[in-house]
Amino acid sequence: MGWGRADSSRFVSRPWLLYLMVGAGLVIGYRLIPVHGTGRVAGYCLISTSSAVAVFVGLARLKPVPRLPWLLLGAGQVVYMVAGMTCYLLRDVLGAADSWVVSDAFYLSRYPLVVAGLVLLVRHRTPGRDLPGLLDAGTLAVAATMLSWLYIIGPYVRNDSGRLVEAVPLVGYPVMDLALFAVGLKLILGSGRHPLAFFLLMGNLVAIMTADTLYGLQQLNGTYQTGNFLDVIWLAGNLSLGAAALHPTMACLAEPTPAGDENLDRCRLTVLLSAALVAPVMMLVQYARGVTYDIPIVAVACALMFLLTIARMAVLVSDQRRLAITDGLTGLYTRRFLEAELPIELARVRRTGGLLALFIIDVDRFKAINDHHGHPAGDRVLAEISVRLRGTTRPGDVLARYGGEEFALLAPNVHLDELSVVAERMRTKVADSPIAVNADTWLSATVSVGACAFPVHVSDQVELVGMADRALYIAKARGRDCTVIGDDVKPTATEEGRRDAADAREAQNAHDIRTTTDIRTTTA
Ligand code: GH3
Ligand code: MG
Ligand code: MG
Repeated sequence: MGWGRADSSRFVSRPWLLYLMVGAGLVIGYRLIPVHGTGRVAGYCLISTSSAVAVFVGLARLKPVPRLPWLLLGAGQVVYMVAGMTCYLLRDVLGAADSWVVSDAFYLSRYPLVVAGLVLLVRHRTPGRDLPGLLDAGTLAVAATMLSWLYIIGPYVRNDSGRLVEAVPLVGYPVMDLALFAVGLKLILGSGRHPLAFFLLMGNLVAIMTADTLYGLQQLNGTYQTGNFLDVIWLAGNLSLGAAALHPTMACLAEPTPAGDENLDRCRLTVLLSAALVAPVMMLVQYARGVTYDIPIVAVACALMFLLTIARMAVLVSDQRRLAITDGLTGLYTRRFLEAELPIELARVRRTGGLLALFIIDVDRFKAINDHHGHPAGDRVLAEISVRLRGTTRPGDVLARYGGEEFALLAPNVHLDELSVVAERMRTKVADSPIAVNADTWLSATVSVGACAFPVHVSDQVELVGMADRALYIAKARGRDCTVIGDDVKPTATEEGRRDAADAREAQNAHDIRTTTDIRTTTA
């Protein structure tokens, strides 16, 4: 008794599970009813209708954002339900000849709605470009399209009795399934969360495509019989969709996740390799069977696979290059990239004239942030400072993470009187407003900036870096949260510079010992 109560309350608190269990019972009951009984048709319609109702109940209860993908999936299920009822009415009640033309039209018009719903889900889950995911899905879709042509669509087209009304639905199903397959792949291969509702939705797609494919093959062989085991697969797909819509995680299926940098793992690589080999293997199979009419299709598939593979390689290479010159925490250029750009920019300025400015920006008393709030908070501050600094740069500038909490900006074509303006702009942009490190903690951070320009202050690359560095130390010695331009470091004689820097370091150390922290923390 106690067990029964606990068990039933579990089902009541999990409507999706209750729905699946009751639905499974109905499907078993459906199989037990004689094939041509009226109850059977009613059973089919009841289960497909329940799925449509479940989608709209899920929409009303769980309020997914956006609603449109689920509305389209629900509309697709409504059309499917109407198709089943129309088929029953025309064929079994009215005994109309060619009744399937109308029901096929309904069945087929369900697919664009489902595809549109899934495309919207994909777009919300992975905003922006996900080229690797698109190319991988394309590779698998080309393999599936070729197989579908060789074994289903091609034979239909060649066997065509000449009646368009017969040919269109027969070819229509595999074509629609291919569209489902492509967008389903994009969902699986793209980024985004994979909660239970996701797997239930995928179950729906797999059931539709499996049953449709077997249906196509049975139609070709002349072995299809109304009400055979394929109905169970279609109905299981209906239940899977209904359960997905009732599961609480359906509301977060469209949550955006940025496209992953690189997810070409061993499993994906194996699947892609197998797909790419399908076309040449089929070419050999056709050759062994002495079949030549499909050779052009297989050759086109081979060429497409080849192009997709090359495109994937190009994307990989460019991703690797981007990663090599990008700092992982801040997304800015690396110091190595900036140092590689320096001689190039210097040579260009020597050729064309103008100024090349270098700014070195150091976060003030950053160690205190780490010490008081932890490294993750420090990382968050660094990331936000980099965003703010980036907001002050112009196209052509190179902003890099120069060291742990140091940044460097290489700015070509700057006017001498703009140096202090640019440096002040960076300083104030960081200091102006506190940085949120979590939901209720904001930290105020400041930066010191040292800068100089070639050829006004220095005559080569080593001096450029050295003077910007010395200017930064002087800014630190002057109390931090300030900017020093090369001129302030003058005289620029090497000895003078060294002495300035040493003085600055000394002053800074003395100041460090006196001061504990000037980091201001704001807590909501
Ligand atoms: P100053 O005003 O003189 O520049 O003082 P400071 O505390 O900013 O300078 P200091 O060189 O003493 O400390 C820099 C700190 O930056 C020490 C190091 O642990 C921290 N740091 C370096 N890289 C990272 C990083 O990637 N993440 C975090 N959270 N901390 C970092
Ligand atoms: Mg610092
Ligand atoms: Mg530093």
